[in-house]
Amino acid sequence: MSVTLDLSRARPAAAPAPLNLAGLTRSEIAATLVESGVAAPSQAKMRANQIWGWAQHHGVTAFEAMSNIAKDTRAALAERFTLARPQIAERQQSVDGTIKWLIRFAPGIEAETVFIPEVGGGSGALCVSSQVGCTLNCTFCHTGTQALVRNLTAAEIVAQVQVARDDLSEWRAAPGGRRLTNIVFMGMGEPLYNLDGVATALDIVSDDQGIAISRRRVTVSTSGVVPKLKELGERTGAMLAVSLHAVTDELRDVLVPINKAYPIAELLAAIRAYPGLSNAKRVTFEYVMLKGVNDSPAEARALVKLLAGIPAKINLIPFNPWPGSPYECSSGNRIHAFADIVNAAGYASPIRTPRGRDILAACGQLKSESQKTRANARRRETEAVDTAEH
Ligand code: SAH
Ligand code: SF4
Repeated sequence: MSVTLDLSRARPAAAPAPLNLAGLTRSEIAATLVESGVAAPSQAKMRANQIWGWAQHHGVTAFEAMSNIAKDTRAALAERFTLARPQIAERQQSVDGTIKWLIRFAPGIEAETVFIPEVGGGSGALCVSSQVGCTLNCTFCHTGTQALVRNLTAAEIVAQVQVARDDLSEWRAAPGGRRLTNIVFMGMGEPLYNLDGVATALDIVSDDQGIAISRRRVTVSTSGVVPKLKELGERTGAMLAVSLHAVTDELRDVLVPINKAYPIAELLAAIRAYPGLSNAKRVTFEYVMLKGVNDSPAEARALVKLLAGIPAKINLIPFNPWPGSPYECSSGNRIHAFADIVNAAGYASPIRTPRGRDILAACGQLKSESQKTRANARRRETEAVDTAEH
């Protein structure tokens, strides 16, 4: 039987995408302008500063709107470069005010970003993704069940902040009037496996002539990629958060399997040496509360012993379940008893309030629903082709 395939859905060969200047630092923009012949070396710095102000301070996405740049230069820029935002595939808002965007960077390349306003309004943190999927497979994390698609570029990481600022209408807002005041790399992926992208994105968003979020208000969370910790501190000056989750190698090997490569003792030694670590710049240890797995008073006591002498705070995260997850969240009593022991030893031990659970925006829940939908859609497509062929 002959088969006629419907080619109307086949994608044409993609033309190379124009370079997005939103992912370049000011000096990189200047160098790019010279290389492309748009600016003479003597003019490049001034021109880069103008573009920078429009793009990273005013949030402008069209070169045409840059009224202090000559018309023909604007046209030359538009011919070669872009400042376009990625597409927002979906936007959801939780009853608690949390907003989640599913951002489509390219066909099939999607990641989620979550704005978490503080309870009671005021400021809030933006939880950004560094990768689409993750190579690691922590057993309590839904992202970990999804294969890595690819690293996000610096432009794509910066774009997550820009999309949030568009939505919150706070370009040009005075620092005191902003809602988005902090950035946490706690979305999808392991940031230290994409350190170049993360570090460049941080150079861009912390520039005081642009988005101007201070490095001290940026936290990078890692599962414990020991060989990259020092470089993270030196290159970014970011606050460090480490996903510890267990006090013995035996259990951490299961929960956070990267522990087999970099066990707890090595991890703690690297943390003690983290550049700038002090009482004013503490490391945050994240500890997910899993019922009957890691939540006993004895483990709380072992935890404070293990961390003795490290300037730290311990963030207790109630486990956020996902379909098929092999764990349950500890009871409120159990979590409070654990927190009391840690607290009594002199460590701040806030219990993270789950936010945005109703829209699957809480820790470890990201991406799951959109992938499922796409997997179903892919299955339907495959079935349609199979049916046509048989
Ligand atoms: N890959 C990085 C950052 C992203 S995850 C890391 O592992 O640190 C951000 C935090 O959420 C980590 O501490 C992670 O362990 C935690 N987490 C993952 N799945 C979770 C879940 N289902 N419930 C609660 N916390 C979870
Ligand atoms: Fe990856 Fe972090 Fe999830 Fe582990 S917890 S699978 S490192 S995203």
